Amino acid sequence: MDRKAYYGEFGGQYVAESLMKTLEELDAAYEEAIRDPEFLRRYHYYLKQYVGRETPLYFAERLSEKYGVKMYLKREDLNHTGAHKINNVIGQILLAKRMGKTKVIAETGAGQHGVATATGAALFDMECTVYMGAEDIKRQSLNVMRMEMLGAKVVSVTSGSNTLKDATNEAIRTWAKTAEDTFYVIGSAVGPYPYPKMVKGFQRVISEEAKRQILEAEGRLPDAVLACVGGGSNSIGMFAEFIEEPQVKLIGVEAAGKGIETGEHASAMALGEPGVLHGMRSYLLQDEDGNVQLAHSISAGLDYPGVGPEHAYLKDSGRAEYVSATDAEAMDALMELCKLEGIIPAIESAHAMSYAFRYAGQLQEKLGKEKAAEQILIVCLSGRGDKDVNTIADYLAGKGYLN
Ligand SMILES: *Cc1c(COP(=O)(O)O)cnc(C)c1O
Repeated sequence: MDRKAYYGEFGGQYVAESLMKTLEELDAAYEEAIRDPEFLRRYHYYLKQYVGRETPLYFAERLSEKYGVKMYLKREDLNHTGAHKINNVIGQILLAKRMGKTKVIAETGAGQHGVATATGAALFDMECTVYMGAEDIKRQSLNVMRMEMLGAKVVSVTSGSNTLKDATNEAIRTWAKTAEDTFYVIGSAVGPYPYPKMVKGFQRVISEEAKRQILEAEGRLPDAVLACVGGGSNSIGMFAEFIEEPQVKLIGVEAAGKGIETGEHASAMALGEPGVLHGMRSYLLQDEDGNVQLAHSISAGLDYPGVGPEHAYLKDSGRAEYVSATDAEAMDALMELCKLEGIIPAIESAHAMSYAFRYAGQLQEKLGKEKAAEQILIVCLSGRGDKDVNTIADYLAGKGYLN
């Protein structure tokens, strides 16, 4: 088996022998596609006409005033289906069609990637099967309904913890048997190479736009860009165009759940150790024996025990910094964004907002008020919060927020 790592010591292709050739074909097809002007034209056509890009880079006036820095929000919440995930799905399904595949499969946790994939499959007339843990099916019935309305078949996975990790294993197993006519649409910057590269390629549009937009608005690059990190796709898309701009600080925000010290969190890079999961080597939450541990976060999209290998590499090389925000901090930031800007963000995105507020405070302390007010921050608002209203209501009821 090829153990070439691709991202320092991270990444690789830890899959069954029978999938090695499939991954090789996929890599070749992807590299060819992104050099083909016709493929790129189609990809950008659907991003514009169907997804609704470009998304605004919104100057959050009231937040900026309150926190004393210039805060811009990259509005991925305004995409069709409500988050950044559709950017990647459109790219991967166009690639699947180009490769002559007729079926797509996907894994999903909360159901957001499943819904995006079912959407793309309907649009491009592909048969779609989504693997979802039995526990998640119970918790996310609305998204199961959406997927079925869009024509997808949702398969309940009962193994391990009956959640995303197990659904992903099942999807990979199925793919190994059906790759001839089936394309596996992975939902984050994870999995065996070339997936982390492809997902970054299809999410790069976030920072391509943001870079152009901030140069137009401010005439210079931002001082920092921030994004939440689950598997790492909105963040790698937000970072991509700035990685080679050393003056731009890159900050990834993981979920600290109930607090890193409680053990109930999803901060793979704060406390994880390198290990192998879902075809890649990266930082993972695992116990002393190397068993993968369950992640915890109030946001289903950040509830993943691993992280994409390029993030592991960016952390070790020092190019990006990874921090975390707790459930409570994210919910406070979420309410702040509702009240000051009239935007209900996804709980995932609220993690990035929360740290942006904390970081603004640090800048004021370090630089003084006047200089801090010139600092430009871009936060990736990865998705909208409609899907989270029940979770938010339960949380607020417990907190006495609303009465
Ligand atoms: C899925 C999801 C995430 C987390 O996934 P990444 O691959 O880390 O981006 C973040 N925000 C929203 C709104 C999501 O739906």
